[in-house]
Amino acid sequence: MSEVIDGRKMSAEVIGKVKALTADLAAKGGGKPGLAVVIVGEDPASQVYVANKSRTAKECGFHSVQHTLPADAAEADLLKLIGELNADPAIHGILVQLPVPDHIDSGKVIQTIAPEKDVDGFTFVNVGKLGTGEAETAFVPCTPAGSMLLIERVRGKDLSGLNAVVIGRSNIVGKPMANLLLAANCTVTVAHSRTKDLAALARTADILVAAVGRPEMVKGDWVKPGATVIDVGINRIPAPEKSEGKTRLVGDVAYAGAAEVAGAITPVPGGVGPMTIAMLMANTVASAYLAAGLARPR
Ligand code: NDP
Repeated sequence: MSEVIDGRKMSAEVIGKVKALTADLAAKGGGKPGLAVVIVGEDPASQVYVANKSRTAKECGFHSVQHTLPADAAEADLLKLIGELNADPAIHGILVQLPVPDHIDSGKVIQTIAPEKDVDGFTFVNVGKLGTGEAETAFVPCTPAGSMLLIERVRGKDLSGLNAVVIGRSNIVGKPMANLLLAANCTVTVAHSRTKDLAALARTADILVAAVGRPEMVKGDWVKPGATVIDVGINRIPAPEKSEGKTRLVGDVAYAGAAEVAGAITPVPGGVGPMTIAMLMANTVASAYLAAGLARPR
């Protein structure tokens, strides 16, 4: 059986480091890291994510603020709020919870965030830095950054020459994940919905990352023996075995079958998920250090 990669343990380590850095920053006269989370509307899943982010920020000792705009808020009001947060010296990280309602242009919203406060790593400046090999000075999107830490935990930092297959090419997960693996000297293939013979391609991967949003799509016989499997997917499916109307979370990988073949694998829940929030905190504390004129902590 494969090693289970414990995202909860790793995220607790990251959070522990963030807390220590926050205390050190105050001791150096740098004040508190400030995180502003903005949510538009009342999507229940988004509300849970936002509440978790705000709670973790408080646990880390941050100045944490949440702005909730009504679902029919005008785009101009959201852009104005971001402008105010950009100018607020107590705020070092701005996060707009996606998706925003359809009448708001999410691209415009994201590009309004000052790159030095873009702790989600979605602005052109941060995407461009990662894409041109300047990851050290970029804010890297939290989910792939957290996935990378989990991979390094198993494989070490030098991934030279390993074959990596990333299934999914979103701007939030797939593309930045591919760039991070490329920067770590992997030979990277990015697969998507038009890829032919995905199973055979996946079987070439020493590192297989699934970021698709399709429950248990990646089967055990898609996995190369000994591969490191990172399951980013979070899918809620019916669980009639629990009781009528109940649901459970599964990833994009059919866990039981894949775990028999993989060298190491992330579970869902408890794998990549907890890392995302931890990396958001790490990016925010880094932003606060830079704002205070201090070296970025590593
Ligand atoms: P998107 O829907 O933006 O992207 C999905 C990608 O999967 C697309 O590139 C799409 O291809 C590809 N795809 C869809 N169907 C197939 C298929 N049959 N075969 C191969 N590729 C396919 O999703 P995200 O990247 O935002 O999220 C992916 C998953 O990760 C979701 O389950 C999401 O909930 C989860 N997630 C988890 C996070 C965490 O914290 N753990 C954070 C963010 C996301 P194409 O481009 O051709 O359409």
